[in-house]
Parts: sequence; structure tokens; C-alpha cells
Amino acid sequence: MSVKTRFAPSPTGYLHVGGARTALFNYLFAKKYGGSFVLRIEDTDPERSKPEYSEQILISMKWLSLDWDEGPYYQSQRMELYKKFAEKLLEEGKAYRCFCTPEELEQMREEQRAKGLPTRYDGRCSRLSPEEVKRRVEAGMPYAIRLKVPQDRGVIAWKDLVKGPIEIDSKELDDFVLVRSDGTPTYNYAVVIDDYDMGITHVLRGEDHIPNTPKQILIYEALGWKAPAFGHMPMILGKDKTKLSKRHGAVGVEAYRDEGFLPEAMFNFLALLGASFDPNRDVYTKQELIELFDENKIGLHPAVFDPDKLYHINREHMKMLSTSELLERIKPFAEAKGYKVEPFHEQLIPLLVERMHTLKDFVELADYIFTDDYTVDQKAQEILEKNFPVEGLADMLAAAPWDAEHIEAALREYAAQKELKPREYFPYIRAVVTGKSVGPSLFHLLEAMPKDMVLRRLKR
Ligand code: GLU
Repeated sequence: MSVKTRFAPSPTGYLHVGGARTALFNYLFAKKYGGSFVLRIEDTDPERSKPEYSEQILISMKWLSLDWDEGPYYQSQRMELYKKFAEKLLEEGKAYRCFCTPEELEQMREEQRAKGLPTRYDGRCSRLSPEEVKRRVEAGMPYAIRLKVPQDRGVIAWKDLVKGPIEIDSKELDDFVLVRSDGTPTYNYAVVIDDYDMGITHVLRGEDHIPNTPKQILIYEALGWKAPAFGHMPMILGKDKTKLSKRHGAVGVEAYRDEGFLPEAMFNFLALLGASFDPNRDVYTKQELIELFDENKIGLHPAVFDPDKLYHINREHMKMLSTSELLERIKPFAEAKGYKVEPFHEQLIPLLVERMHTLKDFVELADYIFTDDYTVDQKAQEILEKNFPVEGLADMLAAAPWDAEHIEAALREYAAQKELKPREYFPYIRAVVTGKSVGPSLFHLLEAMPKDMVLRRLKR
């Protein structure tokens, strides 16, 4: 049997960390077993679904290189299919029309609450005579379609790919709605039709979906279809062990892109939010993750979202890129500030990469290589107030071959001539040339900068 997984987001918001992780694990699962990965947009809720969110989800998936093999399918374009199987279920008596109005349903729940009973549909419309149903349909009364949950179904069990055996008593379920009175399918119903129709073999999703799974199993049974294997992944928590939210810095995936995280790093980080691959290691390439993937490695405990770990992983992935590739990735961030990337900038990358958390940091740490109008930090400002001499230094440097060794020699000689302490003078030169009080080795930094840029600033 070939493996087929899917990611089925509802476009009611951006692709957030939890959704991206779900997508990623379905992707890894498919790729590990040489199967395929389907993207399906579950947009049947017209009030909450928005086309711009669908678009954004696709963009974020592409950015993360979660390349789907099939789709995107849109549930809103598949209504005929849902209708067809709903009719089949009605004909076979596995589902029935429910004419109850929202007011009636509310009254029913009210009465149940008053008696201390659990609130659930009491099945009253399943007892209508066929003639009465016919009369109501012909009279144009709106109706929903409910699944007739078999009274004697007993325990619904499945062997969860992540959590192991799970059992839920069917007595806990009422005759739930498959198709709403406005004709739209419910999530539980459409998901079954689609997973079956698309040949999905394995479903990995968040554990918040566990209560839905027995309902879906009942729909599969009513249609006489084999259900896929289900796996429910633990939630993602913030560092304070509460459910992950914006408060923890978790935002839409595109926000990480805009902050200057590499998609490779985000991919790596998301994978660690669900599984432990090797306890002694946290940096992996996509290919390594595919090879190491094993559904038995998916964690049973909630994963904790740790932004520091994301920074660390991002830095490690930046270091894995060649300097020219990294500069290419920095380019949009420089351009966003109106800066132009030039070939010599590549030489600064090895000097700065250790200090960079994100791609954006390069532009901020080294604004002085893009413009003469760079920022001067507070401490550099204080250093500059010392007004050490620089006359003649530019000429001395101009005569020196442009490498760290000769630059250092020239600077030392100048300091000696003027009786200045290198410990005080060199930071002054750094402040003059870069506006910064900290940075990489001064001589290597000057070497990496164009000579005329350095001389110009000394003369200024
Ligand atoms: N549309 C559902 C969601 O976004 C899909 C859940 C599932 O994977 O079955 O939560």
C-alpha cells in the first residue's frame, strides 16, 4: 500500500506554528515512505473562511518547502460530492433529515440541563414517519442531515499512531449533523468524504481532534469504507506551559520569514516541536529529517515552543550556507531598507555570522557597509568624544597593502607616534569608521571593507 497523507487547513487565519507543524509531519510521513502529500483547503464555512488566508497558507507552505504532490483541492468546489453521499446515506436509512429549528434545539438543551442530563440531540426527527418527512420536504421546510448513530454500536476504538489504543463509548455521541440546513457539509462529514475520495492512508493532526475521530469512524462505517490510520499529536505549549499563543511570540509563519529566519531553520525547528530524532542533536537538514522520521518518535508529551532554540537553529543553518548564498538571502532585507548589496559584502559575512540571530541582523549590525549615514551607538558616541587625532592616518593606511596584518601594523605605528594607547585608540577608529562600539576583529573588519570607504571616513 502506498502512503498518502494530507494537510487540510481551514483558511480562517494565517498558517500558525501548530498548523505548520501538522503539515510538516504529514509531509515527512509521506516522503519517508515514498508516498505523496496532498494539500486540501477546508473552506466550507463561508463565514469564517477567507480567500486571502488560503493564499497566505499556500505562500507559507511554499516558503517552508512543504511541497505538496496533489492539490490544492478546495472543499468549496466539491459540494456535489458531499451531496451525493449524503443522499446515499439518506436512502439507506443511515442518516435522516432533521427539521428542528435552532429555537427547538435550544429548548431541548434547556430541558436537559434542567434535569442535569448531558445536552445532546434526542433523535426526535429520526422517529418521524416517511409521510411526515415527505410532507415537510414538499412544504419547503429547511432541514439538516444527521447521522443515525447505531444504538448498539458500543465502544469505538482505534490504534492511534501516536497515542496507542484509544476507546470511546458510542453512547457519548448523539446523532450529529453531517449537512447543515444551508446545505454546507460539516467538518466531520466533508473530511471523511475527502479523505476517502483522495485515498488518504494516514492522518496526523493535533490532539484537539480526538473527539472528532469516533464520529468520523462512524461515518466511514455508515458508508462501508475503511478508515485511514489516525495519529494525534500533542499540543504545543509556551515556555510557561500554557497553550501556545501570540503572547509567546507564536505568530503566522510569514512573520518568521519577515523577521529573517531561514525556511530551513523553521522547518528544522518545527520538526523538533513534535518529535525527538536524536537527543544529542538539534540541527538537521530537511533530507536528514525525512530519513530519520519514524512515527514512533512522535512525542507523547506537549512540545514547548522555545524562541531561543529557534534563534540557535537559525544561526546554525545560516552557518551551513555558503557566504554568497547567505548574502543572497540577506538581499531582500537590505533592499527593504533601501540598501544595495555589493559583492564585497560577502567578505563581512564570516566576521558577522556569529553575532547574527537572523538575516535581518546583518543589515542592522553592519549598516555602515551600506551607507555613510550609519547609526552610531551610544557607547561609540562617547568614544568619539575623545577626539583622538587622525590626521595623517589615512595617508599612512593608503600606503599599506590592504590586509589585516598591514592594517594592524600601520595603526600600531600611528598610535606609537602619537603616544596613544592601542586599547583606547583602536576602539576610537572602530567608532569613526563604523559608528559601533563592538564588532568583529577591527583589522579583519577594515580589511573586508573597501579601502576608499575607510579612508573617506577617516578624512571626514
Ligand atoms: N480543517 C481541519 C483543521 O484545520 C482539519 C483537521 C484534520 O486534519 O482532520 O483543523
